[in-house]
Amino acid sequence: MHGEDRELDDARESARRLIRELRQRLEGLQRAGVRDLPRANWIEPVRTEDPVTPIVPQAPAASAGHAVERPPSPADDLPARKPAPAPALPASSFSLFQEPGFETAPLPPAERPSILRVLAEEVAICRKCAELAATRTQTVFADGSPSARLMFIGEAPGADEDRTGVPFVGRAGQLLTDMITKGMGLRRQDVYIANILKCRPPENREPSGEESANCLPYLERQIDIIRPEFICLLGRVAVQYLLGTTLSMGKLRGKWYRYQGIATIVTYHPAYLLRTPSAKKDAWDDLQILMNAMGLPVPSRKKAQD
Ligand code: URA
Repeated sequence: MHGEDRELDDARESARRLIRELRQRLEGLQRAGVRDLPRANWIEPVRTEDPVTPIVPQAPAASAGHAVERPPSPADDLPARKPAPAPALPASSFSLFQEPGFETAPLPPAERPSILRVLAEEVAICRKCAELAATRTQTVFADGSPSARLMFIGEAPGADEDRTGVPFVGRAGQLLTDMITKGMGLRRQDVYIANILKCRPPENREPSGEESANCLPYLERQIDIIRPEFICLLGRVAVQYLLGTTLSMGKLRGKWYRYQGIATIVTYHPAYLLRTPSAKKDAWDDLQILMNAMGLPVPSRKKAQD
């Protein structure tokens, strides 16, 4: 090997080592809960994701009565995205963690419960929202499996959840449980259920923008620890704060989105379904799209609506 070639090889090797070390450092920071590491201003910001653009073609709805074959998972093979019009964002909104190519490996399932426990303890003493901290009985972290393929995200705990510390255990929770078990044929303990807010808003009022912004980093960390293949957003508030849109549920339903790189679908909140039983059919259609994508057989009867 010529001297020049050797120099080039050495330079390549040290560049690779540097990249490896930088990646390990970033992964360490991310695991420790650092959510954002602004890029230097001299790097031209690239907007990689417009979360509201549907990104997975709608899977064909299974006809009731027939089990479906497993379709390709949207998480496996996403079609190329159309470049979204890039709104001008300050360079500080771009994080090294969102750089194309910076993807941390999922946490091994065995490590997730203890890391979630630490996060739950952090949440339990959170006082970022003075009113919520003063009025809650306890925080409501999540329910379900840290290895879940599917995560449901609702709005905020209600009175029953505030009392028990478990999300979705009241009337709306019973309906969600039926949707999961009777509708999708899954066990509640095998999915993961969380909310935008970890505290009950007094009188069950809607979460404010400030409360959601305070609480969202916890949910983002839950999602990052679990890395589900699929997310199902329940209702307008979850959609508004995670997908950043106020478009109506009617316009958003039936399509796939990406949230933190995860195939995400939206459907009506179970509390809305209790008030508006005629919307259950639409919710069942949404669940079928989800089930098709997950490779789950669609049951012959619409048990979730019964
Ligand atoms: N509604 C929600 O959005 N979350 C709950 O945990 C209960 C009711």
